[in-house]
Amino acid sequence: MESSKEDYLRSIPSVDELLSIASREGLLDSCPRRVALEALRSILGRKRDEIIDSRAEEGLRAIDISIAGIMGELRAKLLPSGGKSLRRVINATGVVLHTNLGRAVLAKQALDNIALIASGYSNLEFNLDSGSRGDRYSHLQAILKSITGAESALVVNNNAGAVLLCLETLARGKEVVVSRGELIEIGASFRIPDIMRKSGVLLREVGTTNKTRLADYAEAIGPQTALLLKVHPSNYRIVGFTSEVSIEELAALGGKGGIPTMMDLGSGCLVDLRPYGIAQEPTAQATLRAGAGLVTFSGDKLLGGPQAGIILGKGELVARVAKNPLHRALRIDKFTIAALEATLHLYAAGEELAFEEIPTLRMITAPLEGLRKKARRLLRKIEGIEALKARFAIIKDSSAVGGGALPAAELPTFALAIEPIGQAVDSLEARFRLHDPPVLGRIQKDRLLFDMRTVADEELEIIARACRAVLS
Ligand SMILES: *Cc1c(COP(=O)(O)O)cnc(C)c1O
Repeated sequence: MESSKEDYLRSIPSVDELLSIASREGLLDSCPRRVALEALRSILGRKRDEIIDSRAEEGLRAIDISIAGIMGELRAKLLPSGGKSLRRVINATGVVLHTNLGRAVLAKQALDNIALIASGYSNLEFNLDSGSRGDRYSHLQAILKSITGAESALVVNNNAGAVLLCLETLARGKEVVVSRGELIEIGASFRIPDIMRKSGVLLREVGTTNKTRLADYAEAIGPQTALLLKVHPSNYRIVGFTSEVSIEELAALGGKGGIPTMMDLGSGCLVDLRPYGIAQEPTAQATLRAGAGLVTFSGDKLLGGPQAGIILGKGELVARVAKNPLHRALRIDKFTIAALEATLHLYAAGEELAFEEIPTLRMITAPLEGLRKKARRLLRKIEGIEALKARFAIIKDSSAVGGGALPAAELPTFALAIEPIGQAVDSLEARFRLHDPPVLGRIQKDRLLFDMRTVADEELEIIARACRAVLS
């Protein structure tokens, strides 16, 4: 190695020295010493790598190894959240169910119930009437049955787990018939063919990508067939010359041969969205009425609750699924039960309350005029800094629901558009992202958009503060 690199490496300040400065500054008051130490090691490790990889002399000199520089980076890492990795962010992307940003925001009633149940003991698995051991699933069964009309219900860790568990229970070592148009991928980690292989079932593909007919299913049914599966192609649409078999037709076909039908609904909408001008997702209720033996969906997509995989269906089938030892490995915790039960209570109290109190439904159905007003309020808060480094405008655009729900739905919305002056939009986006708290928008050509659909009223002031910090 060249001697200048060695000199440079040797002049990196020591961990002890930096840590004692951090301690004097009070940085360790809100952050455990070990966490600060790890943060510091990672900063210094990166500096070392940069020095070793640097090519020319000026590349070397661009690497800041001053005490002030390193302390600045450490402060930026530790101050926002006491060094915690999981942080609150402002979602101004307009994507209501953003899987990378935690999907559904919980209703206040759900949060209050988590706090109540988790801050003390509970009757999680204790029957208060008889004084004997109870069942954690009992808390959700009655309400799920009452809202959806299902004969029986079970809740597991997430929908991928629900699909795996149902397939494994009903069809291990046997064949499951699925349309080629429904062999979907949801994110990189959930692909129907993979989950089928993992659950030990044999995939029997029928039809073509764009067209599958009832006769295709009928021809595929044989002595090895254990299940007919339909998958809601959540995150995409096949349009044009297409045909698919409805769950009614499929359930009727299966019924003749005594073969159960299962539908993976993905989002699991429980309400009618049409009055809000949004194309309807199939609801759990309608899918059950159509004769599906089992229906599975997520708790944290359109339902607007905690992460969970909800399984509804015929009593005999759900009972078999519940007895599978794999079920124990996918069991839900008390936070999920508390949050889900409180969310379901909002549905039980009537759709109107659900649309008012469940943030996911409220955001999806937010009236356009309200979004425009919100954008105006934000603009008024930041008008003073207008001329400096950016041009602001309120624009009409459209937001996406996300989370694999309603992929074709374009929800008209209003956004604050920031066009930076003298810097690239990418670096503007990065500065908002690195702000505390991070403010995440979406880039459209050379403007950064903050979509009002996913921004709460209380967050406008935070965004305004970020604009002042980033732009002035
Ligand atoms: C989202 C989705 C899943 C996975 O659900 P998770 O709750 O994320 O595990 C499975 N199937 C479909 C059709 C989906 O849309």
